[in-house]
Amino acid sequence: MSDTPLSAQHFETLAIHAGQEPDPTTGAIMTPIYQTSTYVQAAPAEHKGYEYSRTDNPTRRALEDCIAALEAAPYGLAFASGMAAIDTIFKLFDPGDHIVATSDIYGGTFRLADKVWSRYGLKFSWVDVSDIDAVQAAIRPETRLIWLETPTNPRMALADIAAIATLAKASPGQQPLVAIDNTFASPALQQPLTLGADLVIHSTTKYLGGHSDIVGGAVVTNNEELFQRLKFLQNAAGAVPGPQDCFLVLRGIKTLALRMERHSTNGMAVAQFMSDHPAFTVVNYPGLRSHPQHELARRQMHGSGGMVSAIMRGGAEAGKAFVSRTRLFALAESLGGVESLIEHPYSMTHASLSSSPLAVDPGLVRLSVGIEHIDDLLNDLRQALMKL
Ligand code: PLP
Repeated sequence: MSDTPLSAQHFETLAIHAGQEPDPTTGAIMTPIYQTSTYVQAAPAEHKGYEYSRTDNPTRRALEDCIAALEAAPYGLAFASGMAAIDTIFKLFDPGDHIVATSDIYGGTFRLADKVWSRYGLKFSWVDVSDIDAVQAAIRPETRLIWLETPTNPRMALADIAAIATLAKASPGQQPLVAIDNTFASPALQQPLTLGADLVIHSTTKYLGGHSDIVGGAVVTNNEELFQRLKFLQNAAGAVPGPQDCFLVLRGIKTLALRMERHSTNGMAVAQFMSDHPAFTVVNYPGLRSHPQHELARRQMHGSGGMVSAIMRGGAEAGKAFVSRTRLFALAESLGGVESLIEHPYSMTHASLSSSPLAVDPGLVRLSVGIEHIDDLLNDLRQALMKL
């Protein structure tokens, strides 16, 4: 649509246009939902680039190219869920290979590693990745991957992506790849490949989709050889999203930049309100000056996003009572949608993890701050706290 090369366009423009052209047959400005499993060929193996929709589909291709552009990379792949994307990364490795991973990781990723991939011979070390010395100490000759989430879930700790990428590249022998689950920040706030990472993973279910109406995942890389291996695995295992879901993520992404701005200002206001309130002992939000890695957040991120967690003075009972009394903040798992959500990890997302490296404080509450008016959000928190 424009003569300016993609790489020269700004994030907000890419979010609306990257990977998308008006439909050549009708001029439709929105990418059509190519609801088809197969494609007619003029002669055997003579086709227009598409043979079968597990292998490739034009709506999915548009989404893959768009997400890749947002992460400032040439190669993107879409998956049926964030977990399908993560599973595909683990399939790159062989029995005996070792992975250093964030100890404060998404519970589903821990479960996949601990209950599935450990059975196939992958070895995992769970490390506090906000401690660079601990990451260095965990690397072994057979380490093939460093898996980071930053900010982490639910403690909102940060990993220094550039420092860890440098450390990985300085490792003797075969250098481990560095992968970032960028779900919490989204590419609007953080672009890990520009900081030296090799792979970015998203649960597009969250901020990219942005409207709590689909489940999806994505992997992005700037390494062609890795992309070819991942593309092979995507087609071989087949955990691909349908075209309707791809369309919804593409539509959600068009407002990503605007949404993340509002998520960040609302997130900051909610974090500030909670840190001024006596019901909480600790508030975890990278935008707060009291966050131990606030300076790193300012360097690495362009805004702190909508995720806030805090420990309640009254422990598990206070946590459960608080999350049950908000009205606008809906009591639900998941995050990253336009609407605000609240949960109590100890009795919900992290209930089965109390004896794992992911155990959380019983008084912890986690908020996904949406893009509603901030006064209504703060009033809701106030009334819920008053009833405690
Ligand atoms: N990564 C993070 C940080 C998540 O929060 C989630 C889901 O909550 C996932 C990955 C898994 O994504 P999905 O639920 O789309 O499979």
